[in-house]
Amino acid sequence: MYRAPLQDLSFVLLKLLGPQPLAGCPAHADYSADLAQSVLSESARFAEGVLDPLSRVGDREGAHWSETGVRTASGFRAAYRQFVEGGWPQLRAPAQIGGQGAPLMLATAAQETWASANLAFKLCPMLTYAAAHALEITASPQLQQRFLPRMVSGEWTGTMVLTEPQAGSDLGLIRTRAVPQGEAFRIFGQKIFITWGEHDFTDNIIHMVLARIEGALEGVRGISMFLVPKVLVKDDGELGERNDLRCVSIEHKLGIHGSPTCVMAFGERDGALGYLVGEANHGLEYMFIMMNAARLAVGLQGYAVAERAFQQAADYARSRVQGRNSAAPGSVPIIQHPDVMRMLLEMKAGTEAMRAVTLYTAWQLDLAESHSDAAVRKQTQARADLLIPIVKGWCTEFGVELANTGIQVHGGTGYIEETGAAQWLRDARITAIYEGTTGIQANDLLGRKLARDHGEAMMSLLAQIDAELASDTGSAAAEEVRGAALSAVTLLRETTAGILALGTARTDRALAVAVPYLMMCGFVMGGWLMARAARLVSADAESAHEFNAAKLATARAYVGLLLPRVLGYRQMVLNGSDSIAAVDPALI
Ligand SMILES: Cc1cc2nc3c(=O)[nH]c(=O)nc-3n(C[C@H](O)[C@H](O)[C@H](O)COP(=O)(O)OP(=O)(O)OC[C@H]3O[C@@H](n4cnc5c(N)ncnc54)[C@H](O)[C@@H]3O)c2cc1C
Repeated sequence: MYRAPLQDLSFVLLKLLGPQPLAGCPAHADYSADLAQSVLSESARFAEGVLDPLSRVGDREGAHWSETGVRTASGFRAAYRQFVEGGWPQLRAPAQIGGQGAPLMLATAAQETWASANLAFKLCPMLTYAAAHALEITASPQLQQRFLPRMVSGEWTGTMVLTEPQAGSDLGLIRTRAVPQGEAFRIFGQKIFITWGEHDFTDNIIHMVLARIEGALEGVRGISMFLVPKVLVKDDGELGERNDLRCVSIEHKLGIHGSPTCVMAFGERDGALGYLVGEANHGLEYMFIMMNAARLAVGLQGYAVAERAFQQAADYARSRVQGRNSAAPGSVPIIQHPDVMRMLLEMKAGTEAMRAVTLYTAWQLDLAESHSDAAVRKQTQARADLLIPIVKGWCTEFGVELANTGIQVHGGTGYIEETGAAQWLRDARITAIYEGTTGIQANDLLGRKLARDHGEAMMSLLAQIDAELASDTGSAAAEEVRGAALSAVTLLRETTAGILALGTARTDRALAVAVPYLMMCGFVMGGWLMARAARLVSADAESAHEFNAAKLATARAYVGLLLPRVLGYRQMVLNGSDSIAAVDPALI
């Protein structure tokens, strides 16, 4: 049974990010601790009461394809209706298009609870929001008027339609064609792996499709974005004929069985009617607007599933009696074995650190979007741009690892499907692949985010962390955390200078160690915010309070058990590339 970590979510939002995190953002003038807590407790109630009981149903039943469409697992359709009736699709969208305009950091915290409870379900509203957001920023007023309100309300859902058999990470290879017809286009092509591309939740599905207008340039500069509805919408807003597109089949896959992953055929007859979004040949740029939001939202999925795995592992470790220890006569619950405690602490500390880094990044995006001072907007946007590939890559890779640890805590029982621990590993696995694999995130971090300003955004963040960690905390335990976090920052600064030098001289050598560098960044950022947390709870008048004591313990576990990994990553980054560059692929 899932229990939303409301105390930690509130701690990060209301304390770790500072007392008035959105001061200076007129759009969020009504944001308050009370508002945040009431949104969180309601989202938790929906996650625990509605989504969690369906998680296993979705895993076992999956979605079913037939000629007439895709039927979702029992209970999913009703849950979606409740999600819409609860007003959840509108949470983040701005008021002018019918949304509630909640800050991203709050929406991200709420999304965590849904992703922990039922990742397969959560993908549908996540993609709808991403599609609506791209339309809001790029589409013509006419297109917005016709489609946006019904996507924001949740009456219709949205998808991201990029991947083709020959075009995955490399979208420049897209072949789907768009042929002009009057003011619209006819779309022809096959897309694969489209999440929630077909389902029985709503009457219409709005596909955001990447295609190439006939005669456009080869590569990424010839790609445009089209809005292609499943059912055509008449001028008066009524639904008209079925468009010429269909779900040909759905994939049988490792996890997220409740989420249909669709092969989609566009234009099997006279072409699917599609509307150009924004300007021709800017499709990839627009898709990146969706992808930035989606990459943050996928990063959170990594630790949301790890949180779920942790809760189940901790419950099991309290009840499973096996073996003895020196403290008590007779057999003991396995939680009393030091190695089991190590695994549980790694899971808890790792998850809390990832949550802190992700919500910090969401907060930077809120400031970048809404702060009244242009200089603050610019600086926070640069910082968020830098952190997004780290959040996506680190939180998903590490989330998968922690879900795997959850199985280990269960022993053989974890390997058996009936227990449910295996589902978390199967579900988490995709998070490091879709929305850009970890390799692609690392290329982005190094090739774009570090290279474009020669490391300035990274070095300025490290300088700020240094300044923050410079002063004593006044508590021995918090000092231990602060010291370790500070040393890790020093290592990252040195390693960043090293990889920048490598990048300038030999790009391939730098890219060879881009993933270890990204992982190092993640662990160092986690250390910084765990040190901040340790300082806050040890200075709290109620430092003996159970939550504060637990937070200090996890912060110490983080620096004792997880942060030492940065030493290994540093070695890999500074010395590992030769061992890759020297090998001829023919030898593998
Ligand atoms: C369950 C599921 C849901 C999905 N949902 C959607 C969706 O809704 N919409 C959509 O459009 N797509 C979706 N996808 C597709 C997904 O985004 C792609 O699978 C992903 O981007 C990777 O592309 P690929 O599978 O073609 O792998 P490839 O691009 O072939 O990559 C294979 C390997 O090569 C590496 N690699 C490739 N290029 C580089 C490079 N330049 N540098 C370093 N390493 C590289 C990758 O990191 C990876 O390890 C989904 C996929 C799955 C499995």
